[in-house]
Amino acid sequence: MTGFVLDLATLRPAVDRVEAEGTAADVGLSQPEWREAVRGLFQVEKSGDRVSVRGTVQSRAHLECVRCLKEFDLPLAVPLVVYAERTGSSSREEEELLVRDDYMLFHDGRRLDLREAIREALLLELPMTPRCREDCPGLCPKCGAELSPGPCACDPDR
Ligand SMILES: [Zn+2]
Ligand SMILES: [Zn+2]
Repeated sequence: MTGFVLDLATLRPAVDRVEAEGTAADVGLSQPEWREAVRGLFQVEKSGDRVSVRGTVQSRAHLECVRCLKEFDLPLAVPLVVYAERTGSSSREEEELLVRDDYMLFHDGRRLDLREAIREALLLELPMTPRCREDCPGLCPKCGAELSPGPCACDPDR
């Protein structure tokens, strides 16, 4: 088990399986949504100075339903794919261009920092309009009662 900064020297040659774990704060997530541990399970492949990382990042986001305003936990399992080259293997301009294209990172030959890639992958996975469940009926616009247990007193059919 390691953190989210991979120590390239300790990786076995060719393909290695890396389990990483840390807090949300370790990857720079401090918003109230992020209270749970972040886990990563990666296949790391080293071939010369090129490192590729493929795997999944898991956590749970604590969200508020936009319809009924109830708080709920959303389990997340986000795929992560990262390619990294060693700094200095291409020109500076090339490196800047490559970094802008999400998947490419740079390492210094010793460590590969996955924290930013993990943070972005998790943030991208957050829904814009979180719902406690897909068909949450929300609140009654008249009395404000929660409608998921059943119709409220305003319902004429009741
Ligand atoms: Zn809801
Ligand atoms: Zn009502």
